[in-house]
Amino acid sequence: MPDQRFKTLDDMHDIAGKPVLVREDLNVPMQNGVVSDDTRLRATVATLTELADAHAKVLVLAHFGRPKGHASDELSLRPIADALGDVLGRHVGFLASPERHAVDALANGSITVLENSRFFPGEEKNDPALIQQMAALGDFYVNDAFSAAHRAHVTTEGLAGVLPAFAGRAMEAELKALEAALGNPEHPVAAVVGGAKVSSKLDVLTHLVTKVDHLIIGGGMANTFLAARGVDVGKSLCEHDLTDTANSILDAADAANCTVHLPYDVVVAKKFAAGADNRTVNVHEVGSDEMILDIGMSAVEALSDVLKTCKTLVWNGPLGAFEMEPFDRATVALAQTAAALTREGSLVSVAGGGDTVAALNHAGAARDFSFVSTAGGAFLEWMEGKELPGVKALEA
Ligand code: ADP
Ligand code: MG
Repeated sequence: MPDQRFKTLDDMHDIAGKPVLVREDLNVPMQNGVVSDDTRLRATVATLTELADAHAKVLVLAHFGRPKGHASDELSLRPIADALGDVLGRHVGFLASPERHAVDALANGSITVLENSRFFPGEEKNDPALIQQMAALGDFYVNDAFSAAHRAHVTTEGLAGVLPAFAGRAMEAELKALEAALGNPEHPVAAVVGGAKVSSKLDVLTHLVTKVDHLIIGGGMANTFLAARGVDVGKSLCEHDLTDTANSILDAADAANCTVHLPYDVVVAKKFAAGADNRTVNVHEVGSDEMILDIGMSAVEALSDVLKTCKTLVWNGPLGAFEMEPFDRATVALAQTAAALTREGSLVSVAGGGDTVAALNHAGAARDFSFVSTAGGAFLEWMEGKELPGVKALEA
């Protein structure tokens, strides 16, 4: 990249024999002491092996859970260090209380996980004393954890101010994908925003109307927008107190030349349950005892046609209550259209959000998307147009 705003592993020189502090996301789900999903561990492989193969002493920094400054056996990273070793296919060491002399004794090319950074009371306070104490352990700092970049903590932000700082491979890929999707995208750009509530995504919606050409609203939040336009949504999930807000978002979209797409047919049921009796109706025909659980197939067809005219798609939030069949149909169908357009090379597609990732996996579409972010909170803050402190520190 010509005008790259941050340094990457390509810019690291003379690291053989030197300790490199690498912030990773090891905050994996555990069940009965076993890692139940190793997606995040696999995301570390590129950076950790590249640095170890360059004969650095790799020191992995990460948090696990919310110990709030107190050490405990339950939240130790020790078992996760072992699981990381399995994923990497090489030995991974562990240091409970790291000091420079212990680091100096490590072998070149070794990988060592340091204990849960949040055991230190200073971590979440970005405490200058802890920054100095940790910086003394390494000669370089690499941040490879985009998912933690919305926090200004010692291991996510502070260290970048005192050590030569670089983006790891996973961070680099994430930043490039996000840049292509919203930073400097090819137009026309479509955004799909779905999920349960408008209130949780107000800032996302307000930011997107200024950035994208088409805003596709689905999920429970579409009901609030429909209600704002005078539609009776019956017993649907709907934030009636936010109808004024919804109207001002629609006005802002108009002013910014952003076309908002609301569904004109919807799938309704009387029970919020898998397999509930349901019918597809025009939005003006929702019964007073019915709730909208998905958008209709005519709406999905129209939205597919919109995506066919677009070069870029950013997606957060399912279009319906996708966890319950058959209310997954719209999400699955539109995801498969986006996946096909991406495969054909006409669309750059980026998606993120906990339930969104689950929905795209359910649709068998995730692997065809250009990029799927597992970053949750950091992804949403980025969709809100916020500057992430961990990213900003790398750009400085
Ligand atoms: P993400 O985790 O990807 O950011 P959200 O958490 O905002 O997504 O939204 C996902 C939730 O929204 C899902 O649990 C889904 O069932 C719910 N949802 C979507 N459409 C509806 C609807 N019409 N009525 C009720 N809940 C809905
Ligand atoms: Mg969610």
